[in-house]
Parts: sequence; structure tokens; C-alpha cells
Amino acid sequence: MQKAINIKVLVILIGALIFSMYQETPAQRTKKTNKKTATAEVKPLPPTISYTVSMSKPWTHLLEVEMRLDWATMPEKAELKMPVWTPGSYLIREYARHVEDFAANDASGNILTWQKTNKNTWQIDTKGAKEIVVKYNVYANELTVRTNELNADHAFFNNAALLMFPKDQLNASSTVKVVPFGNWKVAVGLPKVEGQTNAFRAENFDILYDSPFEVGDFKEISFNVQGKPHRYVVEGEGNYDLQKIAVDTAKIVEEGYKIFGDLPYNDYLFILNLRGGGGLEHLNSTALQWNKFGFKPESRYRDFLTLVAHEYFHLWNVKRIKPDALGPFDYENENYTKLLWVAEGGTAYYEGLLVERAGLMSDKDFLASKATQIQALQNRPGRFETNLENASFDAWIKYYRPDENAVNNQISYYDKGEIVNFLLDIEIRRASNGAKSLDDVMRYLSAEFAKKNKNYTTEDFQKIAETMAGKTLNDFFAKYVRGTEDIDYNSNLSGVGLRLSTGESNNKTAYLGANLRQDGDKLIVISLPSDTPAYEQGLNANDQIVAVDGIRVSQTFLTTYLNEKRPADKIKFTVFRFDELREIEITLGGRAKPDFKIVAVDNPTEEQRRLYQSYMRTELK
Ligand SMILES: [Zn+2]
Repeated sequence: MQKAINIKVLVILIGALIFSMYQETPAQRTKKTNKKTATAEVKPLPPTISYTVSMSKPWTHLLEVEMRLDWATMPEKAELKMPVWTPGSYLIREYARHVEDFAANDASGNILTWQKTNKNTWQIDTKGAKEIVVKYNVYANELTVRTNELNADHAFFNNAALLMFPKDQLNASSTVKVVPFGNWKVAVGLPKVEGQTNAFRAENFDILYDSPFEVGDFKEISFNVQGKPHRYVVEGEGNYDLQKIAVDTAKIVEEGYKIFGDLPYNDYLFILNLRGGGGLEHLNSTALQWNKFGFKPESRYRDFLTLVAHEYFHLWNVKRIKPDALGPFDYENENYTKLLWVAEGGTAYYEGLLVERAGLMSDKDFLASKATQIQALQNRPGRFETNLENASFDAWIKYYRPDENAVNNQISYYDKGEIVNFLLDIEIRRASNGAKSLDDVMRYLSAEFAKKNKNYTTEDFQKIAETMAGKTLNDFFAKYVRGTEDIDYNSNLSGVGLRLSTGESNNKTAYLGANLRQDGDKLIVISLPSDTPAYEQGLNANDQIVAVDGIRVSQTFLTTYLNEKRPADKIKFTVFRFDELREIEITLGGRAKPDFKIVAVDNPTEEQRRLYQSYMRTELK
């Protein structure tokens, strides 16, 4: 998925973290268990599972599910489970809370009794029936890429948030028949069941849960790349040019093909809903959300294309090139991995590269976006608290649940991950004298892990990067991946003739350091980086600033007011904290306004010029 735009703060559970780091993940446990049983026992036949999803009254937001289970070895107590999360979005979402009107019958229509045995398990007393029919409704009124929405306009649903699985039967195949409302059309990445309308087949639950549906009166366009069909379905009106989107997306797909040498799917589906924002990756499809009017100006359109490139690149990086714990999945618990900095950070790096290589972004803009990321990281005290591996591991309780202290105790595995992948690419290019790059690491992971259905570990990743570099990268990984050392950008960037210019000078201006938000007529403190005058001298997150030096304040006014002050000047803040008015005097700090840019080194060598050109495909200027 693409990173959340607003990161606020987090909860820390250090004790739980240290303890859990030494535990096997549930997925690892399951894998070991499977290995043992596979040789020791003959497996009983799996059930035949068929779902029908209807939407007879879309305005009620109720998706109607019928699940038929035909099973020679039906247990006396059959257990059906709702996933608690969906892969790609690392947060326990408790999809079971939207289930209602649950009922079970045998094939003759006799009512079967049932009870819930935990938050997401329905246990049915099957009374010897070999075939059961379960019906339930799911309230669907939340449009995000990992939830469900049904309304008078359309339906979008994620099967992990809709369809139950029989306990211990995640390898079972199933079919899904959709009964659309009125004349709505159905789009999904799953293959069709021959001879049936709107019926689809999933080999197993990882594939079923990986295949979101869009049902509605959507617009569509198809195009081929390397002989493979690709299709957009778009729900909603907006200032987009679908023809242009198809042409530009085809260029991005082509760049993915150039890296890996094949497109490992039969067909690919882009589902685009024109509300909200973000995306979620799947094996041969993606769900995207974008603002209706977010396709202009050109810079916004380019942002849209980087979202497309991000989710598309994931079809390799994370969906097929799988970190240790990410597949087969445990749908009832957190699946812990230290590798989201590769799976997400690496994808965040490649989103820009694909768009740049496709000629849809200049090398200048590409490097400017890296400079912006670096500036944001360098303004985050949390970079000294959390390394990339721990940020990945704790995604479930931190990245997805930020609070106002996140800036001080966390980094994003997307943002720092993107930077570290960028630097690693340059390091490999320099060390191999341009013979290898991060593309070779990705290709190797695809050939030796993805295609052999093996997941990779933290050790594998470092070893492969070292093989491509032709030297140890232990120092790089120890400092920047497993450590929290400040990054020495210039020693790295010089590999391709670049350097970081921070725009710092002796010309220091007064600064307060609080992050603020104007909320109607209220000016609110959102967060306080720990190395700032505001933090050190007592402003708090959620304080409402009502006046400075006795004058009523807005964000615009405060900015102007601060611009006229000098470092070491004092300002009296009047704030509401909870319901009480109080005054806080703050002595302003001084700092040079940072303005990070990545520019060419002075007098680049021939080698630097050559490596830059093989990287960005333009001349170093
Ligand atoms: Zn992503």
C-alpha cells in the first residue's frame, strides 16, 4: 500500500516488542507444522466452497453472503472464521464486527444452531450434515482500499473483509458468484468459471483474499503490454483523461517488464475509485483511490502515476518476492516481519524510478523528491530512536497507529526505507563500477526466491546486495538498517557524482519548532519535535494558542510575527490547555532555514559522470 499522508503519533510498548521479537510468528509456526504433517498423514479431502454475494438493496449498505460448504469430512462442530486483517495493510481491523444476521442450515433447510467462540469464529453444530448453507450480511459503508463499500452508486469489496473461511482450510479452492444490483458490471482479477455469468474461481484463500471486486456502472479501458491484457475500471467522474492514463500506465508496466523480463500474470486489473486516496497491491490487480479533481495540474497527475507505479511494482516486491512472514498468511493474528523497509520502502523507491524511466518525470524532479524525503527525515528526532527493522516489525502498533509523539520516537519504513534503498542502489552501482544495481537484487530475488516459492529473510537480502556490490555492506546495514546512526549522505551520493546541499548558512532566523494546525478559528499545536524551543520550554500537543504577546493569533499571523523576531527574543504565549487558560514564555531559538537539494558535485570525475548517466540516463549537470 502507499504510505499514509499524515503521520501523527504512536504508542510504545517496548516490553512487548522486546519479548515478541524473539517469538516465532504464527505464520512461521504454521509452516513448520505443515511440513511435519505433510509427510506423516494423508490429508482428508478439502471442502467444496461456493459463495454468492448479492446486493439487493445497495442503499442499506448490506452485502448479502451465502456460503455453501460441501464436505465429506464435515466436522460435528464446523468453525467459520472472518479474517482480522488484510495483507498489505498491517493493522488488526476486526472485520467480524460488521457481520450480522448470521444463520446456518443443512441442505434440506433445517436450521442448525451455532455459537460464537471468539471474536471472529462462528461454530456450527452440523448434526452430521455433509452440506451446510450459511448466510450472513456484512455492513459495508467504508470506502478505503482495505474495507468494503456498498451504496446506490457502486460496490467495492475486499474478500478478507467479507468472506469467512473454514478453520484450517486456507488451501481450499472456492468459487464466488456475484449477483450485481440492476445492470451493474463486475470486475475482479480472478479467473472466470467457464459457462457461468459473474462467477469466479480462487485456487486458495490467499488468492481469494487477494482479489478485490468493483461492481458498478464503471468506465473502462483496456490495453496490451507484451501481449498481456491490462484493464482499468474507473468509478466516478473527474478531470481525468482515461486514454492518457492508459497510455502512461502502459509505459510504467513496460519499465517493470524491463527489470524482470516477464509479466508474471495472465491479465492485470486497475480498480480506480475517485474518492479518498491510497492504494493496495495484489497479485494481478490493484485497488486505487484518488481525488476526482486530482489529475491536474501536471504535478498532481504525476503523483497519481507514482501511486499507480507503486502498487504495480508491488506485484513483484511483496506479492511474489515475499518477506519471511508475509505469505502464506495467518489471517487471525499479526504477521511480523523486519522487512517492510524493503517491501514498502523499496517499492516507494521504485515508484519514482519507474515513472522517471518511463519518461514521465525528469531526473531533476526525481532527485528533488529524494531531497525532500531526506529533509523530512533529518527533521525527525525519531530517527535516533527507531531503526528500519524495528519500525517494520512494529508497523501494527506504531506506523498504523501514530500519535503526537511519533515524530520523536519513530521513523517511517516508507520514508527512511525509500532513502536507504536509494543509497543502497548507488552503493551497489559504485562498488560494482556500474555493472550491477538494485535492479539486479530485485531480479535475483524474483528468480531465486519468488519463482521457487521461497520467502527471503533479512540475511538473504543483505547477502544478495553484497553479492551484487561484490563487497561486504555490513557497515551500511549495521548503521542505516539495524542502527540509528545519522546518514552520511555525501559519502554515498558522490558515487554517482551527486551531493546533498542543505542550504544552510550563518544567516539564522528565529524559530519556535511547534507543528501547528489552523482548525477553523482555533490554532492548535499538533506535535512538538523534541529538539525545539517549543518542546523544551513547555508547549504541549493539543494546546490551543489564543494569543501571542497579548494579540489574538492565527497561523498566518504567527508566521508573520515570528519572521519579524530574532533568535533569543522572548514571546509570551496564551494557550488553552484542556479548559484552562495559561501563559507560557518561550525564548525563540535560531536556525538556518533548511532547503535540501541534491546537486552535482564540483568537478565530477569521468567515472562519476559515467555512473550517473547509467543511473539517470541523462548527463550529469
Ligand atoms: Zn506499498
